[in-house]
Amino acid sequence: MRASPVTPAPTATAAERRALLGRLRDDARGCVRCPQLAAARTTVVFGAGNPDADVLLVGESPGRGEDRQGLPLLGAAGRLMTDLLGEAGLRREDVYVTTVLKCRPPSNRDPLAEELANCRAYLHGQIELVRPKVVCTVGSFATKLLREDPAGIRGVRGRPEVRTIGTRTVRLLPLLHPDAALYEGALVELLRADLALLPELVARPAPPQPGPARVDRGPGEDDGSAVSAGAPGDPSPATSVEDDAPGGQLGLFGP
Ligand code: SF4
Repeated sequence: MRASPVTPAPTATAAERRALLGRLRDDARGCVRCPQLAAARTTVVFGAGNPDADVLLVGESPGRGEDRQGLPLLGAAGRLMTDLLGEAGLRREDVYVTTVLKCRPPSNRDPLAEELANCRAYLHGQIELVRPKVVCTVGSFATKLLREDPAGIRGVRGRPEVRTIGTRTVRLLPLLHPDAALYEGALVELLRADLALLPELVARPAPPQPGPARVDRGPGEDDGSAVSAGAPGDPSPATSVEDDAPGGQLGLFGP
């Protein structure tokens, strides 16, 4: 597989970043780094939504319906999330939705560590190119993975924190999965309350970006440092915590 062409120029415009996001999507659609997943999938579910979104939602992996339709977070869970986003003042088309793994694991098994490692540059590239202020981890799996902490979702949900994922520093907001809320109705209120935090989080100034030259100067501008999502499997900065946990880069998809 050729390297992902995600290398925005220092002054990349929003249009240029959109074009690179499209190229990254095209790369993913032809990706066969995980042979079992590539053989079993109907389609690669790269992600969908506003490529300039302030809010990016990350779930675990595509399910059966998503695999068939090529879009993330569908079905009853998707409708619930859309409704609750609407109550928070966000239309579904305002946000960007993706998953840590872009191909459906057979029988909906958990993703393997190797598969997550293979796929991480796509997520990093999406975050680099969309440049969200807030990344919401949806459900326990994505939350544990991106926080690199085994703490259960119910203990950390609704608590925003500043995290660096790949090359971007964002406010990370763990959310319950809407599937859980559909199964246990009382959780709907918790998910609703957590999503209601988004307008205030988006209104905050973006957290400082990592690296001495990287300063968030707003849409269409950059800080002068070239970035590259690289190819899946490339060693690249993963996840780090800046506010309230020990510093240093952590391996997002480490063993
Ligand atoms: S790296 Fe991602 S896109 Fe490529 S085959 Fe694996 S899961 Fe699918």
